[in-house]
Amino acid sequence: MIKRRKTRSVSVGKVKISSKHPIVIQSMVKMATTDITGCVKQINALSAAGAQLVRIAIPTRQDSIAFAKIVKKVKIPLIADIHFSAERAIEAIEGGAAKIRLNPGNIKSKDDINRIIDCAKAHKIAIRIGINEASIRNLLKDTPQKKRTDLMVKEMAGYIRLFEKRGFNNIVLSVKSSDVARTIESNFAIAEKFDYPIHLGLTHAGLAEDAIVPASVAIGTLLWQGIGDTIRISIAGDPVQEVEIAKQILESLGFYKSNKPQLIVCPTCGRCQWDLIGFAQKVKKFLKEVEKPLRVAVMGCVVNGPGEAADADIAVCAAADKGFIYKRGKKIATVKQAKLFTALKRKLKKLVKDI
Ligand code: SF4
Repeated sequence: MIKRRKTRSVSVGKVKISSKHPIVIQSMVKMATTDITGCVKQINALSAAGAQLVRIAIPTRQDSIAFAKIVKKVKIPLIADIHFSAERAIEAIEGGAAKIRLNPGNIKSKDDINRIIDCAKAHKIAIRIGINEASIRNLLKDTPQKKRTDLMVKEMAGYIRLFEKRGFNNIVLSVKSSDVARTIESNFAIAEKFDYPIHLGLTHAGLAEDAIVPASVAIGTLLWQGIGDTIRISIAGDPVQEVEIAKQILESLGFYKSNKPQLIVCPTCGRCQWDLIGFAQKVKKFLKEVEKPLRVAVMGCVVNGPGEAADADIAVCAAADKGFIYKRGKKIATVKQAKLFTALKRKLKKLVKDI
């Protein structure tokens, strides 16, 4: 079990963020906030997929009005993302935001920042101080990596002082970069210095196929070191996929227990004499409907397959003509290879019933 770094508890509506609570999955609405029906539908889909918090952009006054209506129509706490306007922040707080994401560097007047802090305090909501590498002051194209991290941490320290001076502690921190190494390094640095909860993310990671690996490396490395109390996987694509990936990362490190089966498939090699990939795809489709945390293995051959899949609840291996089914390491059926899928389905249905 990974030992999490101790962090204070921050309340975002009914959701608690701290090392004492499960790591919170977030995502973001990806449509115009003024499309109230569409936003509500997307927020509900994200919630059903496993997101506990959803962020939504508030760039205009019309968005603030729409946001206040959306808040009333959904069950999960919403985070308002405001960028340059103190008015939007205050409208969002008054409109029912459970948290706002604020980059204080984007709000030029100190009085405006203080107004936002006082309003958040009065409404008992949280603020994420979110610093993105691209927005830090004094950053030059050729600023070396170490200096960039130092600048982000220095800027964060300054903002935290500002909030604390105003008596506001319901803070979540985030330092993001599109660079994996800098994301890891800067989060390590803020985790060493502050005990506020940390929101992890790799910003502007790209299309799903390009973003999954770097985001998993950055976030997985930090989680493995006990850093991170809430996460978002940013991809240019379906936000529900962001939640699915976040769940997979948390599950792979033991932070999350899914009620869905896990499918193990061997990578195949020259010993495989059947269409293992086509078979595995059919099994995956079938397992989508199953709501039990089973381990199912599809292995290419009888040479290594049974041994490698010994800890699976159900495993199959096949030769050119025959297929074999194993239950928790013990062979329970030998069938013609062409009948293997039907036989496996039958065994799986029985196992699901018996659990
Ligand atoms: Fe190759 Fe068999 Fe191992 Fe699959 S299980 S990778 S086919 S040796």
